[in-house]
Amino acid sequence: MRKKIIAGNWKMNVKPSETAALVKAVAEATKAYTNVEVACCTPAIDIPVAVAAAEGTHVGIGAENAHWEASGAYTGEISTGMLLDAGAKYVIIGHSERRQYYNETDFTVNKKVHAAVNAGLIPIICVGESLEQRELGVTMDLIAYQVKCALANLPAEKARHVVIAYEPLWAIGTGKTATAEQAGEVCQEIRTVIRKLYGAHVARSVTIQYGGSMNAKNAAELLAQPDVDGGLIGGASLKPADFVQIISAANQE
Ligand code: PEP
Repeated sequence: MRKKIIAGNWKMNVKPSETAALVKAVAEATKAYTNVEVACCTPAIDIPVAVAAAEGTHVGIGAENAHWEASGAYTGEISTGMLLDAGAKYVIIGHSERRQYYNETDFTVNKKVHAAVNAGLIPIICVGESLEQRELGVTMDLIAYQVKCALANLPAEKARHVVIAYEPLWAIGTGKTATAEQAGEVCQEIRTVIRKLYGAHVARSVTIQYGGSMNAKNAAELLAQPDVDGGLIGGASLKPADFVQIISAANQE
């Protein structure tokens, strides 16, 4: 059966010197929670410190991006093998900020997903529609397309370990959360797409998160949706008390 995962996305926040305290605060406050996996996805430069701080705890460390090639002349980039070697367990792929500011496409997302799973990392694959796309009524078609592109040519035994994060663009960093029904119906659609691609067994194994202004107040309602298996949390993951409340809500579901 699939795991519930609450993952923080620190974005370009938190210096290496501030990292250990944040990881340790989260690990300490959630150590009794056995029904949920916890991840902190950090800037690449924080990863070694985060991994050291998380050692011996249940908190997994992740990156926010990776290149699709294993090595080579890609100045400024980091490979999935380097992340694994540094102790990372997860890597966020195709976050909407990367699609928006760094020209990531469904094609590069697919290449990065392959690189991540081949290296032994768990990709947290972000998909989501803009407000305009939602208003045009194409949300489900778009999400299905993004999921199919991300998973193209990925065999079932690898697909069953990926995490998909449904993150409507209009809800990220805006304080405007999708309703539990909106989050639930899109996450259900994502599972349907995976079932059509790989069958019921894989569909049941894949963790599907909601992300977009999830916070201590709205987490329980969102996580109560049957196909919402966790959350990708931006702003609230930087405040240990709030992040811990979200993790607690997931632990109770
Ligand atoms: C995110 O960046 O993945 C995110 C969900 O951010 P926030 O929680 O701040 O909306």
